[in-house]
Amino acid sequence: MTTSAVRVVLRARPSDGGTCIAFLPDKKGISIVQQKIIEGRPGGSQPASQSYQFKFDNVLASASQEEVYEAAASEVVRGALEGFNGTIMCYGQTGAGKTFTMSGGKQSYKQRGIIPRALGHVFAEVKAMPDREAKISIQYLEIYNESLYDLLDITTQPHEISIYENSRGVVTVSGLRTAVVTSEAEALALLFEGETNRVIGEHQLNRESSRSHSIFTIMVELRPVGEAGGDVLMSRVALVDLAGSERVSKTKSEGLVLREAGHINKSLSILEQVILGLGDKNRDHVPFRSSKLTHVLKNSLGGNCRTVLVANVWSDMAQTDETVSTCRFAQRMM
Ligand code: ADP
Ligand code: MG
Repeated sequence: MTTSAVRVVLRARPSDGGTCIAFLPDKKGISIVQQKIIEGRPGGSQPASQSYQFKFDNVLASASQEEVYEAAASEVVRGALEGFNGTIMCYGQTGAGKTFTMSGGKQSYKQRGIIPRALGHVFAEVKAMPDREAKISIQYLEIYNESLYDLLDITTQPHEISIYENSRGVVTVSGLRTAVVTSEAEALALLFEGETNRVIGEHQLNRESSRSHSIFTIMVELRPVGEAGGDVLMSRVALVDLAGSERVSKTKSEGLVLREAGHINKSLSILEQVILGLGDKNRDHVPFRSSKLTHVLKNSLGGNCRTVLVANVWSDMAQTDETVSTCRFAQRMM
């Protein structure tokens, strides 16, 4: 029997123009992605209409950042404070709102995304635990063409970073800066530095951010103090902004772009195999090591981990093919 290892949330960003796809959640929680072709096909006056049906755990169309945090992230972050590892991933085509969802928009404080909200949440929760001493640390990793880049320290070269797995299957990324943070403000400053470094990597080093995966990890260590006994609790939450899922046409691209596309297609398809493998009790091999992305995330997926996939879609009519393809991917994960 197959039970899903992930919870899937669909988030639709608003359309730029007038013609858009409608997301119609009905009472049973089934959402219908509907494409209405309003202009008739050349030579014919009949308007065509197509609809697709999918079922997700949650459908968020025109939701605020706060609503998205509540629906997709708050439970995973709360779990981390109880000792459960977790992962939240944004999947979708370039332009669908993955970075907006994960990091946030720059226009206002209200637009801050899952990462800054998660940091605020973690610090607020640990402040409310007087009998625990908390150590919070963060890492910010970028994976581009199967090479690892440290977004918190751009002087580190990819060959200095490696994934290490011990005999008990515990994965660590060595050579990566782990920054201990003592306040939300300090963490946010580092997040901002990392985001700036991602942009620098894009402009100066030709590492297009839409073609890379970024993983922001919050590590929590809670130890009992004073009278309170008990174990030290250690957990981590990985907040992942995946590379754009769009298919790059082989006829239009060559060289670097094609190589990037190959790595992305491969890592996203291995991510799919891993998640499907985790949900399949009869399967004894889950191919974590087949890509850097899944290898790094190994301890944050499956088992007792809480995993949420946010499928980001763009409501523009012109994006229907990619929207349907993202919905199909997300549906297969459930
Ligand atoms: P991606 O990371 O998937 O390529 P972005 O997050 O960069 O996409 O989003 C593309 C553009 O759309 C950005 O200018 C972003 O601010 C805007 N955008 C995305 N989602 C939303 C939303 N829910 N509300 C308003 N603007 C959005
Ligand atoms: Mg992006």
